[in-house]
Amino acid sequence: MTHKNKLLTLAVQKSGRLSEDSLSLLKKCGIGIQNGRNRLKATASGFPLELIFLRDDDIPQYVEDGVAMAGILGLNEVIEKNRKVSIVSELGFSRCRLSVAVPKQVDYPGREYLNNKRIATSYPAILQSFLNDNGLKAEIHPISGSVEVTPGLGLADAIFEIVSSGGTLIGNGLKEVEVVLESQAVMIAREGLPADTGELLQQLLFRIKAVQKASNNKYILLNAPKEKLGRISSLLPGMKSPTLMPLAEKGWYSLHSVISEDDFWNVIDNLKEAGAQGILVIPIEKMVV
Ligand code: ATP
Ligand code: MG
Repeated sequence: MTHKNKLLTLAVQKSGRLSEDSLSLLKKCGIGIQNGRNRLKATASGFPLELIFLRDDDIPQYVEDGVAMAGILGLNEVIEKNRKVSIVSELGFSRCRLSVAVPKQVDYPGREYLNNKRIATSYPAILQSFLNDNGLKAEIHPISGSVEVTPGLGLADAIFEIVSSGGTLIGNGLKEVEVVLESQAVMIAREGLPADTGELLQQLLFRIKAVQKASNNKYILLNAPKEKLGRISSLLPGMKSPTLMPLAEKGWYSLHSVISEDDFWNVIDNLKEAGAQGILVIPIEKMVV
């Protein structure tokens, strides 16, 4: 079966914080982009895919309307725009949060502080629903850039904005007081995709999962004498059981396995204690299990 004329149309951000990571994820999935990003559209190699480059604000609507069948953008933008689209996968990059911040000298008593205050934001819809959920009323000032400077200029009492490291807040004399939404890049898709396009999207998501799984895991090699292998293997759950290879030195083995990035430092310490030597940890490119 071929997908001769069938392409999956995927919208990505034209230029901004998501662009590079979106294309690099596709690249790790074996998908190359043939013509440059200066155009509206590009065809891909390695997968029946066509890319459309857009401002992230426009992606939800284009996907709802079916101009693109899927799109990559921040969860924050998906929720703010509230279009009829499905979130089909979290992508793990562009992690940030949407938070309320107030001038650092404010002795913040809790959410009731926000009642009747002026709050500047580029996410008025999410802010409004946060206020509603908490039975609060405030004056929302929607603005589209440099939200952090508004309290210093006397234009707002608080802001509701994207925070990642918090450096911008500190630089503007603000402090974070409420985290309202944890965000990251997500894949959205049109609701009720035609079967053949849905199948292409599933194939793409399968590749993305393999890449994500690989980046969450490391390949580990170590040397140990025979009598220590039992204890060491019990520390390494691995994909099935660890691979063992005899070394030239009698009674010594090389042991290979996979460990999760999260367990990494704990496991390393325990392995050393258990007698492992010459520990090597190597990135995995793809992992299909
Ligand atoms: P566009 O021109 O496409 O409308 P933009 O100015 O709205 O771009 P960017 O600043 O490029 O948007 O941010 C895009 C997305 O990246 C945000 O919606 C958010 O999900 C995420 N993001 C923004 N700031 C950060 C940050 N400091 N750290 C991590 N992710 C971020
Ligand atoms: Mg935008």
